Amino acid sequence: MASNEADTMTNAQVQLVTAGALETMVRDIFVAAGCDDEEGGHIAHELVGANLTGHDSHGVVRVPIYIDWMRAGYVLPGRNAQMVTDGGAFVVLDGQLGFGQTVATQAVALGIERAQAQGTCIVALRSAGHIGRVGAYAETAIGAGLISIHFVNVAGSPLVAPFGAVERRFSTAPFAIGLPLPERPVVLDFATSLVAEGKVQVASYGGRPLPPDALVGPDGRRSGDPHVLYGEYASTDLRRPSGGTGAIRAFGEHKGSGLALMCELLAGALTGGGCAGPLEGERRGIANGMLSVYLSPAHFGTQAEFERIGREYLDWVLAARPIDEEAPVLAPGEPEARTRAARLADGVPLPVATWDALQRTATQLGVAT
Ligand code: NAD
Repeated sequence: MASNEADTMTNAQVQLVTAGALETMVRDIFVAAGCDDEEGGHIAHELVGANLTGHDSHGVVRVPIYIDWMRAGYVLPGRNAQMVTDGGAFVVLDGQLGFGQTVATQAVALGIERAQAQGTCIVALRSAGHIGRVGAYAETAIGAGLISIHFVNVAGSPLVAPFGAVERRFSTAPFAIGLPLPERPVVLDFATSLVAEGKVQVASYGGRPLPPDALVGPDGRRSGDPHVLYGEYASTDLRRPSGGTGAIRAFGEHKGSGLALMCELLAGALTGGGCAGPLEGERRGIANGMLSVYLSPAHFGTQAEFERIGREYLDWVLAARPIDEEAPVLAPGEPEARTRAARLADGVPLPVATWDALQRTATQLGVAT
């Protein structure tokens, strides 16, 4: 299970919590901070959902920083995605700095509704609070029988050096595609940085270490040390990228760097929400932009072919002889599905530092733990 970030830790370093208990605790934290029950529950469900898939970087580790952003007014409870342009086959929505889990979910619901009615829909969402794990939105579209493609950027968050550079220019700009193949849906979902920023956070709290070439210092040297991104921090400090002088490296050399650029231009420029930078004046917080394309194979008239040819081909790809017999070839999305099944059964393993940070946040807000 490639994605289990906490699974490399010893029992003494890990707190095992059931998904249900974790969701209740996180919901109560957001409600105490000012969200209504529905929104608090929704944010908690999505964050714990990320932990369940093994993407701890986008899970409950984010709670203290979300609360911090909420207090600072960088993300606002109770906001809805607002229509900016309605072109029928395409729409532009403004998230009004509402919680990403709220406004991106609304944007996805609209894209699904339109694609189910007319075959396709393109949704440009701007100014959303942090939307979390993008694959979750592709999974929602799969549940509705749709293909979806998502280009995402983070306005106000330059963290990633372009190919051949040492300075931050791109956000971690994730990209996701979901395909509703029968019994074997495929969900490709990754940051275009060599690691998501949340994974640097997880490593800084004692979770899975970074690959040794994930970051680049101002001198051009590659490193796996989170201090390159955050500078000095005490164990209980919030991690702030403004503290460091280095950058995360783009994945896939010049090709990954090119895809990151496209995510920035499509999700940041075409939506009108803004690219990662430059940071001029006082930008308040960060915002996700997302350009999503929804396609209905049923409307294309090729649903049967898509499913038959797609499944046969996928099965053939996955039957390729592995280098290591113990590690068969997996489809994108399979590691997450396996981890979800395991963690639903056994509980979510959280690094003790993450659990302590959650408890501190709960206590500050008067939530019983
Ligand atoms: P990652 O490097 O773990 O890659 C995940 C992808 O690779 C998945 O599609 C997964 O199924 C696939 N995969 C993993 N192991 C595999 C294997 N052995 N065989 C086949 N496929 C395999 O992901 P990441 O780049 O660290 O991104 C983590 C999460 O962070 C994503 O969910 C992304 O959406 C999210 N993210 C969000 C933002 C934001 O601003 N909201 C920014 C960056 C990243």
